[in-house]
Amino acid sequence: MKVIYVDNNATTKVAEEVTEEMLPYFSIDYGNPSSAHTFGGNVRNKVEEARGKVADLVGAHPTEIIFTSCGTESDNAGIRSILEISSDRKHFVTSRVEHPAVLNLVPYLTRCGHRVSQVPVSKEGLLDMEMLSDALEPHTAIVSIMYANNETGVIFPVEEIGEMAHYAGAYYHCDAVQAVGKIPINLKENNIDLLSISGHKLHAPKGIGALYVRKGIRFPPFIIGGHQESGRRGGTENVPYIIGLGKACELAKKNIEKENTHVKALRDRLEKNLLAIPETRINGHLEDRLPNTTNISFRYIEGEAILLHLSSIGICASSGSACTSGSLQPSHVLRAMGVPYDYAHGSIRFSLSPYNTQEEIDFIIEKMPGIVNRLRQISPYWKEAAAGKGSA
Ligand code: PLP
Repeated sequence: MKVIYVDNNATTKVAEEVTEEMLPYFSIDYGNPSSAHTFGGNVRNKVEEARGKVADLVGAHPTEIIFTSCGTESDNAGIRSILEISSDRKHFVTSRVEHPAVLNLVPYLTRCGHRVSQVPVSKEGLLDMEMLSDALEPHTAIVSIMYANNETGVIFPVEEIGEMAHYAGAYYHCDAVQAVGKIPINLKENNIDLLSISGHKLHAPKGIGALYVRKGIRFPPFIIGGHQESGRRGGTENVPYIIGLGKACELAKKNIEKENTHVKALRDRLEKNLLAIPETRINGHLEDRLPNTTNISFRYIEGEAILLHLSSIGICASSGSACTSGSLQPSHVLRAMGVPYDYAHGSIRFSLSPYNTQEEIDFIIEKMPGIVNRLRQISPYWKEAAAGKGSA
């Protein structure tokens, strides 16, 4: 059975060019970049070349990029290292719709004696900027608010958020794991102090990430060990994966236009056709959104049941973030947006990539009405609604 993969916000296929670039660094050029000999020195040069490519994709200087093991480590390191240097400020501001990589720091930081404010979002998933302004205070050390939401694709106004954080004397950390490679980012032009990147969301392997730290910010290492990464992250570098991330960033820079033309056109085609099914709605702002993501609710049925039907015909989508599926609770993001219960339970996220084709999208469009119809025929909620209205 052919697989139609439309779950690219969960993870992406490693690009062939990326694998090819990585391979020699396992068993041929396997030197340690910290070694004094030329064999290691050549590898060091390649690591620095990769750092340059990552920096180039986001408009940073190579010295501002630290390699990490994943997006989660980047988020933890960014936030916790800044809290460490801000010992006189014990207040942390974030949003209610962050990925668990940030959200689950909240109880931990509270236990450590920090106060936390979580800014709400509107029905369309947009950040409540007034509530952000109210939350900021002289003791705020750091604001951590994501660039784009992994479940809905909604994009936040990062420039304004950074400006407000700076006005309060706080740093701004941005989890840009879903935005990097999908929309243009220029760190020279916005107010972001620290930014998290994850390789497996942009066609590099799982288990490699990067953290941007603006020049001039003191950054004690979160992983303490050797002098690697200019003393900012201990541990021998994951050389093949770093090289893979560099290549993926180089490719992403070339593909970014395709994301906003080909990928967006496919997403819009899918969305328009699925909205023709009765009692459906899009979750998230229609304009301020990643070009590859659509989160659609099919009222009165379970998203998990839709996923099982899709999976049985080779279509891979998601009913929330990969980390929360498995629980039958509507996701924290949809709950924060106040999506009504009977819609929230039937939500599906389709997240596309440049590898998707129109034939694949048309196959989904062809199959979805039948799946939704079949599930509604056995849904007590649908029957109840139909009886109430006289028809469904
Ligand atoms: N932040 C966001 C917005 C994400 O979507 C993810 C992964 O889904 C992460 C952080 C965590 O990244 P990683 O899987 O590399 O730890």
